[in-house]
Amino acid sequence: MYMSNIHSISNKQLHEGYLMLDHRASPGLTPEEAMSLGYGTEASGEKLYEAKTNHCSHCGTVVIMNPHRTRERSYCQACNKYICDNCGIGMRLPDYVHKTYTQILEEGLTFYSNFKE
Ligand SMILES: [Zn+2]
Ligand SMILES: [Zn+2]
Repeated sequence: MYMSNIHSISNKQLHEGYLMLDHRASPGLTPEEAMSLGYGTEASGEKLYEAKTNHCSHCGTVVIMNPHRTRERSYCQACNKYICDNCGIGMRLPDYVHKTYTQILEEGLTFYSNFKE
């Protein structure tokens, strides 16, 4: 007999530095969904997915420290921190100017305070 999804519990916990996706009792994410959420295809399917998380030093987004990742992770030597893939790509551009998330935030605040005057 096919059991419907009554017991399907989608547990998505995003603690500081820790991500858990519990899809053991549900079909889970499709690889496309998992990718669009930034988890990687390993997080898809019916299983428990756990990964460490970190914050991108340049834009503040959450970086999933995927233990199964084979590609080289972007890393900023100036910050001595991991950065997200998007910022990693940006950093390779010839006209890239190094900026951290905090610097961008401060510039934004300055911009808005100037705007008011
Ligand atoms: Zn970033
Ligand atoms: Zn940096």
